[in-house]
Amino acid sequence: MKILSVNAGSSSLKFQMYEMPEEKVLISGVFERIGLDNGMYTLKINGEKIKKEKDLKDHSVAVQTLIDELLDNKIIESLDEIKAVGHRLVHGGEKYAESVVIDQDVIKTVEELSDLAPLHNPANLIGVRTFMELIPNATQVGCFDTAFHQTMKPEAFLYPVPYEWYEKYGVRKYGFHGMSHNYIANRCAELLGKKDSKIVSCHIGNGGSLCAIKDGKSFDTSMGFTPNAGLMMGSRSGGIDATLIPYVMQKTGKSMEEVFNDLNKNSGFVGVSGISSDSRDIEDAIAEGNERAKLSQEIYVQKIVNYIARYFVELQGLDAIVFTAGVGENSKATRAEILDKLECLGVKYDKELNDFRGEERLISTPDSSIKVYVIPTDEEVMIARDTYRLANK
Ligand code: AMP
Repeated sequence: MKILSVNAGSSSLKFQMYEMPEEKVLISGVFERIGLDNGMYTLKINGEKIKKEKDLKDHSVAVQTLIDELLDNKIIESLDEIKAVGHRLVHGGEKYAESVVIDQDVIKTVEELSDLAPLHNPANLIGVRTFMELIPNATQVGCFDTAFHQTMKPEAFLYPVPYEWYEKYGVRKYGFHGMSHNYIANRCAELLGKKDSKIVSCHIGNGGSLCAIKDGKSFDTSMGFTPNAGLMMGSRSGGIDATLIPYVMQKTGKSMEEVFNDLNKNSGFVGVSGISSDSRDIEDAIAEGNERAKLSQEIYVQKIVNYIARYFVELQGLDAIVFTAGVGENSKATRAEILDKLECLGVKYDKELNDFRGEERLISTPDSSIKVYVIPTDEEVMIARDTYRLANK
């Protein structure tokens, strides 16, 4: 059964086509600069990468181009072969604790939740509507970034602010990266050989969040009401004292939007180092002796360690710590710096085993109190699995 897994943004659309239940990727790709000049797309088929330039006036043109490519490359003979399309949707609020088949009611609810994710939900819905129009016979499924975290208890998700903010306006911690943390929860439980485990999933990429996972469920997570909470990130501040916002507005004369823009786009690695949001550039600058780059890395590592320590206590011990996403999968230096600071918890790792990137591996030593894994995340396959399950119901 052929299934498309889709992640639509305001000007981009990423996709994978799977043969399910084998989970075989038949083709993948990304359309970029939709609605802008110099549109382009790349496809990956049988390990071969193809890059093409094409004006992509809107999402309909991108999806029609995708369909034409599927037919031209003989991935499908006819549109009827695509039985289901799974869409990554950012915000499901408190309404969705799992993936759903999308109908008009779901679309309306996701639209209503756009207040909570004004940049993402409307863009995701453009993707949904376009696929509904162009592949009308396929079951459309919505997979929410927030859904996995709906198992958090109130003491984990409520902020100590006036309670009516929660009741009236939905002010609470939602958490994000749910598809990724869920994938890690499943895969790590398989590797540990037990479902009732205590895991910290460290999804650290350009954005970053940690998730405390107990018995396969989200117990706590570092992102909050928005994705700019918790850890320091590439260009986001993560958690700060909210009172600095009016203070900086007053001192700089900037508007609230401008200060929020600084907290989202000009903070984190790029803000502290003044160099880049990309940890590869930071590592290069550190090697050249740049002090601010070194400082930015120290703050970054400290925030992650703080959350691991906190979750160690919240979960009353840990079976495993997992590194995933761009930095977690690829930066041996960041992993080493984090793990060195966890020695007081009995964490021990093998420096030679840690000297690699981008594959699944156990890097802790047999006498470590907590197992440490690197597991490449796979959000797309989680979307494909849920979509396959719901399309067969
Ligand atoms: P993601 O958001 O998961 O795609 O992660 C992207 C980020 O991963 C980049 O901005 C880099 O900071 C980081 N990254 C990717 N490759 C490496 C690498 N080889 N070494 C260090 N950091 C890396």
